[in-house]
Formats: sequence, C-alpha cells, structure tokens
Amino acid sequence: MRIGLGEDTHRLTGDGPLRLGGVDIPHDRQTVGHSDADVLLHAVTDALLGAAGLPDIGQMFPNTSEENRGRDSAEMLRLAYEQVTKTGYHVVNLDCVVAAEQPKLAPHKEKIKQRIAEILSLTTDQVNVKAKTGEGVGPVGEQLTIEARCVALLETQTQT
Ligand code: MG
Repeated sequence: MRIGLGEDTHRLTGDGPLRLGGVDIPHDRQTVGHSDADVLLHAVTDALLGAAGLPDIGQMFPNTSEENRGRDSAEMLRLAYEQVTKTGYHVVNLDCVVAAEQPKLAPHKEKIKQRIAEILSLTTDQVNVKAKTGEGVGPVGEQLTIEARCVALLETQTQT
C-alpha cells in the first residue's frame, strides 16, 4: 500500500459559478488559475500522483502550456490516474477537505463525491469530502481563497 497527500489553493475573484470537485456550484465568485482552477480536483490529482511516486500536477500539466489553458481538471485527473494505474496501483480510498468560507458546501458534498467517483471509476464509498470554513479569519475566512487537501490510499492490483 502507498499513501499520498495533495494540497492546493486558488484565489477567488469575479463572478461564479464556482467549479469545485468537477461540479459547477452556484456562487457569486469563482476560483482563478491557468486551467479551470478546480482546487479540489487538483488536490486529488496530486494525492494520487504523490502516492504513486510520480511527478506532480504542475510538472504533468505545466501552467506555461497553452494546451492547459482553461483545461477541464476532470480530464487532467483522469489522465493522471491513468499514469497511476500503469504503476500497478489503484485507489483504496480518498479523503478530502475543502476550506471555503462561502458557499456552504453541505448541500453539494454528495454530488461532488459522486462526480469524483465517476471521474476515477470508483464507488462513492471510496470517496469522502469534508467541508470547513476559515472562521472568518485569514485568506479563507476573508473569502480571498479556497483551499483543498486530499489523502489517497493506493494498493497493488494483486492485493486481495
Ligand atoms: Mg491548482
């Protein structure tokens, strides 16, 4: 078995919707970045790559590449997981935390779980998504950023 940790932060600006975990959530702000700026899928991607000992998302999908401008992070996650499975490992489970002051994520967590499971061909009980606020302080609390963290556990295909 192998474990991996992924973290990401994106700045909030402009108007919504907010792309998070592969889902468009109604909100008056959105995250910005070179790709579609999906902070949660980026954390998941890096957790998987890290667990497999592969280069990180920034090396696999450079933000200097025009090909990655506005790119769908679900596609990047799928491609990264393809590389992970080539090493002989697959996901046991993912546990994620999103830190966002607004919007409240409780009504959206189930849909996000389902979407991540769909992207990676997992069952929803292999994916957990938790939501925290910034308690009104710091960049998260002041709604300047959204942060995401993910821990991924992988096992070899042969393990039963
Ligand atoms: Mg990112």
